[in-house]
Amino acid sequence: MTERPTPETLDRFARIVGEKNAIRDEAEMGPYLTEWRERYRGRTPMVLKPGSTEEVAAILKLASETRTAVVPQGGNTGLVGGQIPFGEEIVLALSRLNRICEVDLGGNTMTVEAGVTLSSAQAAAESAGRLFPLSLASEGSCQIGGNLATNAGGVQVLAYGNARDLTLGLEVVLASGEVWNGLKALRKDNTGYDLKNLFIGSEGTLGVITAATLKLFPQPKEVATAFAGLATLEDAARLFNLAREAAGPALTLFELMPRIGVEMVVNHMGGRDPLSEPHPWYALIDLSAHQEGIATDMLAQIIGRGVGEGFVADAAMPTSLAQAQTLRHLREAMSEAQKFEGGSIKHDVSVPVAAVPAFIAAASAAVERLIPGARTVPFGHFGDGNIHFNVTQPAGADKAAFLARWEEVSEAVHDIVAEMGGSISAEHGVGRMKREEIARRKSPVEMTLMRQIKAALDPRGILNPGKLL
Ligand code: FAD
Repeated sequence: MTERPTPETLDRFARIVGEKNAIRDEAEMGPYLTEWRERYRGRTPMVLKPGSTEEVAAILKLASETRTAVVPQGGNTGLVGGQIPFGEEIVLALSRLNRICEVDLGGNTMTVEAGVTLSSAQAAAESAGRLFPLSLASEGSCQIGGNLATNAGGVQVLAYGNARDLTLGLEVVLASGEVWNGLKALRKDNTGYDLKNLFIGSEGTLGVITAATLKLFPQPKEVATAFAGLATLEDAARLFNLAREAAGPALTLFELMPRIGVEMVVNHMGGRDPLSEPHPWYALIDLSAHQEGIATDMLAQIIGRGVGEGFVADAAMPTSLAQAQTLRHLREAMSEAQKFEGGSIKHDVSVPVAAVPAFIAAASAAVERLIPGARTVPFGHFGDGNIHFNVTQPAGADKAAFLARWEEVSEAVHDIVAEMGGSISAEHGVGRMKREEIARRKSPVEMTLMRQIKAALDPRGILNPGKLL
């Protein structure tokens, strides 16, 4: 059991980072206690902002000694409440660990501290002539440590994998305050258990990630984009299969959007309808090539075949980067645009790719049975079988009454996911939000193994208690 830190303990924590990096003022702590979805409002006695791995180690050593609970926080863009403290925990904000330590062009790797934002990591790779392909709409704020702790996905998993696949080594401070330096840059290493993979996706419950060695890739010479209007989800599946077959690894993005989502973005967040007529569904597609001229031709052929065979209703292919960014905006703003339409019940689920159309049909029908008039906005990473199955309140309905039905709606949607062999958290993690549900839905063997790992690495339970497990 953890204990609420006494004023003396708080003073000892503050001395580790210096008073100006130990926040106790209510107003100053505000941004660390609210989150993007406004679902959780946190409380904490103190926010600590360490400036080095040694300071993180000293904080965890003291936390372990005094049984103080600690919530690691990166960019605070997490969507399941994992980074929010709920009372006596102190917040460990990693944003000052923001150094790019090394870019190794020979080895195609980059070593960065955990508080580097994803967009800064991408920029560092780009300025060295390389690509770091992890890409999320929150990339301006989220941090590498948070990305690894959540095993973030995003829009290019299709081609490059998720955060786990992009990581070669980690530096982690353990609950005891010991530092594990696993910053290896090896592509092959079979010398026992792969410890880094325990920490990746552990949501701050097993250790604090302080640095990582990441994989870099050649920058594509050409990225061609298309925005296709589609009549049905089966047409989306046909287009995806064709693109995958024709382009192979050059297919780097295949995102699904419903008409209602595009309308929400255009109405509330700027942008315009790229096609002259409305279509029930849209796909945003990128092909990347390492020689000029190949991707655009290949994508034009794929779209041409789709139009010829009748499963693409219409399409736009931008001719400039600015036009491509306008299309990308429609997808990236889709989550935020829903806020303007009242309450939204969110799901981040995955099913086998081929089952996506059947899943969306079944889940939409289940929602309509529960709340007639509720507006489903299923969008996202079609090519990974990962759909953000969001449900916006019926127009004009009472927001609080609608949101009060979150559990009931989620239960119905997640039951369908389970029947299809899917996951109730494809990329956002478990955090506070899905903690009880995974305990019900995972097998007892799996839950016992996870609890045993937690007990072995954090015997006093000081790391992010009440999250994930
Ligand atoms: P935080 O929110 O600060 O923390 C998240 C979790 O990680 C918490 O449990 C926290 O305790 C832990 N943690 C943070 N830093 C560390 C550390 N250094 N060591 C140990 N534990 C740590 N996610 C996707 O996967 N794909 C998407 O496409 C995507 N799109 C998004 C779009 C928007 C608009 C928003 C707001 C969010 C989106 N997310 C997405 C969710 C979120 O951005 C990711 O989960 C991201 O990886 C969180 O990073 P963060 O630095 O903000 O972490």
